[in-house]
Amino acid sequence: MDLPKEIEILFRENSELAKKLSEEISKLTPKVIEKTGLERIKIMNFCGTHEWTTTHYGIRSLMPEEVELIAGPGCPVCVTPSSDIKNMIKLAMDGYVVYTFGDAYKLPTVSHYKEGIGSLASAKASGADVRIVYSFVDAIEDAKTHGKPSVFFGLGFETTAPSYAVLFKKEVIPKNLMFYSSLKLTAPAAIYAIKIHKMSKRSPVSGVIGPGHVSTIVGSKGWDFFPEEFGIPAVVSGFEPVDILTAVLTILKDLYTGKAKLTDLEYKRVVTRDGNIYAQDAVREIFRTTDTIWRGIGNIPNSGLDLRDPFKEFNAKLQLNIKENPWDYDLPPGCKCNEVTLGTAYPTDCPLFMKACTPSRPWGPCMVSLEGSCAVWARFGSSQRVLNLMKEVRE
Ligand code: SF4
Repeated sequence: MDLPKEIEILFRENSELAKKLSEEISKLTPKVIEKTGLERIKIMNFCGTHEWTTTHYGIRSLMPEEVELIAGPGCPVCVTPSSDIKNMIKLAMDGYVVYTFGDAYKLPTVSHYKEGIGSLASAKASGADVRIVYSFVDAIEDAKTHGKPSVFFGLGFETTAPSYAVLFKKEVIPKNLMFYSSLKLTAPAAIYAIKIHKMSKRSPVSGVIGPGHVSTIVGSKGWDFFPEEFGIPAVVSGFEPVDILTAVLTILKDLYTGKAKLTDLEYKRVVTRDGNIYAQDAVREIFRTTDTIWRGIGNIPNSGLDLRDPFKEFNAKLQLNIKENPWDYDLPPGCKCNEVTLGTAYPTDCPLFMKACTPSRPWGPCMVSLEGSCAVWARFGSSQRVLNLMKEVRE
């Protein structure tokens, strides 16, 4: 049998094991509550795909009432600031060929570049040359064929950054193609989210499901700070239902024993302790860390990446003199994406969810990408909250 199928059988279709895990979770939860004095056990994920698995497979419905699974900042498209989208629209309207991934193509700005133009999609509709690509390689190949001044909209987290870095290392970028970096780093935003919960009157985050994809690059050691600095157990988890249930049970066990630790064994089929050293070196060589704006949240120090000086000829912001203005609140009226992204609200807490904001007509950024929490909940939300809302809409 091939490995992917074996993994599927073990981690996705293994309903017997899933049942046992959820029973163990139910048994252990009251003991943890009693021992720790916590009212609720809040477990946060930092990856859009974890939110997808949790929602798609209805894992919340298997949790005892006191265990709350919440989403953190795990969708790069959702947190791309409105100012970056507007800058890209302006470049497209000024005659540059703009390359973008499909989900960023539909991202709405908070205020229109000019009437009727509030996304790269609408810029294209008014005649701009905006091209959707699947990768930076596609953009490079295409830019070479026409030779026109072009800009690539570089979004993503640590997982995507190496795919850009290796191409700069290989010196294959044509002179007519510039790079606009909107790259972001997960750890500073995760720390920010944990602190928000800690400082507010809400119950603090008690455990973390570490992002599996990002961990393939940074290694599980990238999350040592959760137990070491915050005393919170963390589990680097895979993306199948059994992975998530195992992660939750492991966190509960750690809370019960009072020994917060990082567990990287859960996803050892993919993640190593040190991660992908080649990718880390490539990113370090090409990019430097910068402060950057997260949509709806504001500036988070040292949470972004931009090209280093030796590559400045490709840096669209430098070459085209694009100034980064101080952050101005950049969500559309009524949108609660900032709260959804930081795990202080569920998508269904937004009054616009599935009313004025739907996957086919997104009002806010969390409804655009397939990994945005609102889009995930809109497509797969089978929880009581979504059912209640649908009932309310029908009435
Ligand atoms: S439902 Fe739409 S408007 Fe509401 S928080 Fe989500 S993206 Fe924003």
